[in-house]
Amino acid sequence: MASEKTTAIVVRLIEFSESSLVTTLFTRDFGKISGLAKGARRPKSAFEGALDLLAVIRIVFLHKSSDVLDLLTEAKLDRSFRAARRDLKRLHAGYYVAELLNELTDAGDPHPELFDAADEALREIDGDGEVNRVVFRFELTALDLLGHLPALHECAGCGEELETRERYPFGQLSGGLLCPTCRSRHRQVASVSAAVIEVMRTFSHLENENWRTAPLPPKVQGELRGLMNHYLNNLAGKRLKMHAFLQEDRSAT
Ligand SMILES: [Zn+2]
Repeated sequence: MASEKTTAIVVRLIEFSESSLVTTLFTRDFGKISGLAKGARRPKSAFEGALDLLAVIRIVFLHKSSDVLDLLTEAKLDRSFRAARRDLKRLHAGYYVAELLNELTDAGDPHPELFDAADEALREIDGDGEVNRVVFRFELTALDLLGHLPALHECAGCGEELETRERYPFGQLSGGLLCPTCRSRHRQVASVSAAVIEVMRTFSHLENENWRTAPLPPKVQGELRGLMNHYLNNLAGKRLKMHAFLQEDRSAT
């Protein structure tokens, strides 16, 4: 049983007994792990102040076999997520990042770049970042890094390059944009405006920072939010809980 060290984001906490917690952590080097933190609920523990939702922590844990919980032996706080105290919208966005990490990744499947993207998104959400913009960027980055980015330049059905149009058929189950010929062969096809596709192309481009300054008018945000909710729910195989809160918050901005 090897003792491992890594950095992690706390994505879920469940009270296990009077004194212990079961933690779900998205780690940089080992992907998602579930670890038992014995004594974590006692005032003076080896985890003092570190096991908070959305905190970035440095951990030591014992890697157990696949069907048992790992054992967390140490956790030190790198950065806590403070938005809860000042802004509900930022708190909900933070919870949503955690939900995506938990629902879209498998246990023990490492994605260091996704960890870095989540770390960066949480830092911006907890700071002065434009919340909706940062959330869209994180969703599209996560989809790309996990191999689920919808086709945005060519037809998801036949691979043909798409002509420029005002609205595009988007196959929710077929992995993105469709050409007129392929459209008829697919179910759950939405009609999406060119403006939304343009935002998706810009925001999913990992090599540049154009997403920071690209126009993102409220109307485009609304349409994109609906499209992403549908697409991500299909991918996760369930309705993601935090979508309801993201939509509620949109009217306030
Ligand atoms: Zn096609």
